[in-house]
Amino acid sequence: MKIGLIDVDNTGFPNLALMKLSKMSKNHGHSVEWYTPFDFYDCVYVSKVFTFTPDHGYFLNANTDAYFSAGTGYKDGCVMPEDAEILQPDYSIYNVPKDVAYGFLTRGCPNHCKWCIVPKKEGGIRPYNDIEEIAIEGRKKIILMDNNILGAGNYAREQLVKIIKKGYRVDFNQALDARLVDDDFAELLAQIKWLSVIRFGCDTWSQIESCEKAIAKIRKFGYKGRFMLYTILYGDIYDCLLRIKYWRVDKGVSCFAQPFRDFENNNVIPQWQKDMARWCNIVSIFRTVDFENYEPRKGFFCKKYLEIQ
Ligand code: SF4
Repeated sequence: MKIGLIDVDNTGFPNLALMKLSKMSKNHGHSVEWYTPFDFYDCVYVSKVFTFTPDHGYFLNANTDAYFSAGTGYKDGCVMPEDAEILQPDYSIYNVPKDVAYGFLTRGCPNHCKWCIVPKKEGGIRPYNDIEEIAIEGRKKIILMDNNILGAGNYAREQLVKIIKKGYRVDFNQALDARLVDDDFAELLAQIKWLSVIRFGCDTWSQIESCEKAIAKIRKFGYKGRFMLYTILYGDIYDCLLRIKYWRVDKGVSCFAQPFRDFENNNVIPQWQKDMARWCNIVSIFRTVDFENYEPRKGFFCKKYLEIQ
């Protein structure tokens, strides 16, 4: 059979669902290629990461098609076939470097943050892959997309110990939960060879204290790198602004602000959230101008948002 693939978001970040579907198809002896409407396919697999990106606009020249989420993408998408889910990805479709791997050690999350779809979509936290199942073919740089690895307790400790012993370089590219960083986790996190920064969520005012404590503990065990705090822009503008302002003095910590999106894709993002995210996420702006004096459009200063609340 001839299989076509469509990566709808085309973010430049490999779509894990498509890589697994490609591996499954090739294992079944099918040919796999990126979809083009100038050709005919037995089956087209379409995958999307985000709800808010526009869908593909192709007429599908195929006998059949199937839509999969790789993230929140399609609300009513197909469930990944079990024989694809268990496979490691086909990295060749994205020309992923030979030393890089992507995967999840866990799926799900034990928390129920009101702005987050993960617990609804994936349920409670559970082990998914062992690090050695991800670090295939000598791949030692590993991007892990777990939603809350530390929430997996002893299983997380075992995996972090293995990562350290094997000398893998990793990036947990979603947020870690600062509230769960005890001395034991802090020592392990300090020993890991990081590909990038250590990331925490700082989504409420009360999490600032947890982030401060976690950062101090990890530093105590010798970590010299930077931290990144993901900060959701949700609810009250003052709360969001204070949470971000708290980290404006550079303590080796950067913030990354994300406007809230509901996963039914019904909400219109308020302009203040777009402006605050831009102010926060562009370092040259963030370090040089207060939010109040930030002028995103000619003649409009963000202090206006605070006056009209
Ligand atoms: S801890 Fe993170 S993954 Fe878990 S529910 Fe909250 S925001 Fe979602």
